Amino acid sequence: MRGSASGPRVMLRRLREVMAEPISAQDRLDRIVMLIAANMVAEVCSVYVLRGDNTLELFATEGLKREAVHVTTMAVGEGLVGTIAAEARPLNLSEAQSHPAFAYKPETGEELFQSFLGVPILRGGQAIGVLVVQNQTHRVYTEEEIEALQTTSMVLAEMIAGGGLQSLVRQGSNLALQRPAQLTGRSLAEGIGLGHAVLHEPRVVIQDLIASDPAVELTKLDEALESLRSWIDNMLSSRELGVTGEHRDILEAYRMFAYDRGWVKRIREAVNTGLTAEAAVERVQNDTRARMLRQTDPYIRERLHDLDDLANRLLREIVGWKQHSADGEMPKDAILIARNMGPAELLDYDRNILRGLVLEEGSATSHVTIVAKALGIATVGMVEGVLDLVNDGDAVIVDGEAGDVHIRPTNEVETAYADKVRFRARRQAEFAKDRDLPSRTRDGIDIALMLNAGLLVDLPHVAEAGAGGIGLFRTELQFMIASTFPRIGEQRDLYKSVLDAANGLPVTFRTLDVGGDKILPYLRHAKEENPAMGWRAIRMALDRPGLLRTQMRALLHAAAGRELRLMFPMISDVSEFEAARELFEREIAHLNRHGHQTPDSVKLGAMVEVPSILWQLEELLERVDFLSVGSNDLFQFLFAVDRGNSRVATRFDTLHPAVLRALRRVVARADVADIPVTLCGELASSPLAAMALLGIGFRSISMSPAAVGPVKAMVRSLDLVKLRKWLGPRLIETGGNLRLDLERFAAEHGVITG
Ligand code: PEP
Ligand code: MG
Repeated sequence: MRGSASGPRVMLRRLREVMAEPISAQDRLDRIVMLIAANMVAEVCSVYVLRGDNTLELFATEGLKREAVHVTTMAVGEGLVGTIAAEARPLNLSEAQSHPAFAYKPETGEELFQSFLGVPILRGGQAIGVLVVQNQTHRVYTEEEIEALQTTSMVLAEMIAGGGLQSLVRQGSNLALQRPAQLTGRSLAEGIGLGHAVLHEPRVVIQDLIASDPAVELTKLDEALESLRSWIDNMLSSRELGVTGEHRDILEAYRMFAYDRGWVKRIREAVNTGLTAEAAVERVQNDTRARMLRQTDPYIRERLHDLDDLANRLLREIVGWKQHSADGEMPKDAILIARNMGPAELLDYDRNILRGLVLEEGSATSHVTIVAKALGIATVGMVEGVLDLVNDGDAVIVDGEAGDVHIRPTNEVETAYADKVRFRARRQAEFAKDRDLPSRTRDGIDIALMLNAGLLVDLPHVAEAGAGGIGLFRTELQFMIASTFPRIGEQRDLYKSVLDAANGLPVTFRTLDVGGDKILPYLRHAKEENPAMGWRAIRMALDRPGLLRTQMRALLHAAAGRELRLMFPMISDVSEFEAARELFEREIAHLNRHGHQTPDSVKLGAMVEVPSILWQLEELLERVDFLSVGSNDLFQFLFAVDRGNSRVATRFDTLHPAVLRALRRVVARADVADIPVTLCGELASSPLAAMALLGIGFRSISMSPAAVGPVKAMVRSLDLVKLRKWLGPRLIETGGNLRLDLERFAAEHGVITG
């Protein structure tokens, strides 16, 4: 077979026959090593498989002593085989014994053999085993032979990953691929989810490794590449980026790889050795991955993610698989795993089967997190490497409190979590018991605890959580889940249902806040370098008054005969509020002229979420009926940290004195003007931060539904006058973070914040 391109093809065909035979796993492995040895004209062929304890075990051999099978083991890094596994690259030696790593295992009888060729059995770029051939003579294996052995090792990789060798594992030990793993990220949305992994972007399981006609495979590859490239080009020129959670620089990297001639050439070469197009992509990706994982340069490692995503996309194109799991069959207890995703993509899934969400990226105030919270899905973000470890269908536990993710948990971990879930249910029951108790501090100050909402599923929460009403209704969510603009009647119906569900409690609607990462797929939108600071929210609404007026009309109809509270997002200049108010008044006049019933009372407010407005408060307060602070955006702009970028979003603590001082300024000015003010950012959802907000003067805060119980427990255990006395001087004196001080205050004064 040396030097001939048909050699590997013949071997692959034979392997396919062996794979199809109805024999036991051990017999199959034995036949495979025999076949490889014969084809490579080698006296020895052995397979080592990596176990969960990081030990390589001899699973089959042709040529070494049979007694050594399932007896000989070596640690990763030990001996030649261990070195191959550790470095995930081949080792080609004409004189094995003289290699410094050579370790003699007497039971195998291998001292007879001089030359040695070993290749890692790769899965996702990590070695999960080692395949070795040996000869008695001093022989140098050719490049083609190394290639052929690597290609053959893919068959073994599929056997191991597909669970085919599970039955050969001794009781009490397991294969590396099945071992339990625990990763820690950041808790993004509370709750505990037990279920089974669903990869948002499914990983193709290669069924056919061996091609019958390479020409057909090459055409398949070319067509898939073509469609992949046009997808990238379209994404880059449309402005759908936010919807999919993909960022421009990632797409630029995709484009670079997709047009990279070297990458495509390597895949074509692999097809020419006899692999199917999909197996060739996987084969090249495995090698590239193994090579890139050895790099220490963080930039290159980062790009590896991009190349992985792209290769997976290409695989799905080739085999005609759906690009996203939302379009296919799902388990009843899905834990969704993704690198990142946009809010609209999460909404594509059936809420009833989602138990948890795990993101490699993501941040606490990104909109996908806000939607996850609204849906009550336990979420952990910034979980590095989760996509390398988890396979579709693996058991997973998401601990949205501790920020932990358990993959293939042991029975003990599962039991502990079942207890934790019961404990949480008891706590929730306690919160529920307090539901009808007043939200009043120990020293008798009433605090309004409101809900953030945006979807129909949120509505039952108003009553369940015992909230004082809806402090923020994000109207854009209805627009984001629709495939075309919701018509005026649809808008009116939703707003009416919201008011009905609130049953007389106040509801504050916010006009459309799209732009940034909240993109409507059907709304054409020019490219922006910096969408968070671009054409969004009130800016877009005033430039497209038709949209805003339709929404206002829908709201006015829905609130006929009741109170309508409406606020405008991203006000950065007082004139924007005035322009919006004028439009609103014109709508009321129009309805009156046509004899329609209008709301009994109307309250118009502005969101404080752009720093410029902090220095126009007096002018603004003269014009508004209420203010609502959007701390998510305000924090993002105050510190210049992108709320959706996990690299920087957590760089500064939200309890920084700069934030608290800015917020205190808002409350103080509003109090002087006698205008009600509330805060509706994520800050209010954490009991400790909510305590700080009360300490600087807020008497009304709005939060995600799950937070109402814990925050009410905090309120009822707090002596607010004491806190104010304690906090006042610290806000002036403290330069750094106040979190630790606040925690200490809570602990010393029995305030329930956990
Ligand atoms: C905010 O910015 O704090 C806010 C409440 O609005 P959103 O999170 O929808 O931008
Ligand atoms: Mg905002």
